[in-house]
Amino acid sequence: MGNRMALCPACDGEVVIPADAMENEIVSCLECGAELEIMCLDPLELDLAPEVEEDWGE
Ligand SMILES: [Zn+2]
Repeated sequence: MGNRMALCPACDGEVVIPADAMENEIVSCLECGAELEIMCLDPLELDLAPEVEEDWGE
């Protein structure tokens, strides 16, 4: 098994998913730098990870 590719939900760039990746693991998009959580491995599904809590209600 080799690495797999998925599409970044933020920029539609290609994201490399390591062969040993697990669900709920965080990967980074090399195109836009977004942190992406692996929601599902089969089929591959990525979602933006809530990495930074932005507080708009200051
Ligand atoms: Zn991206």
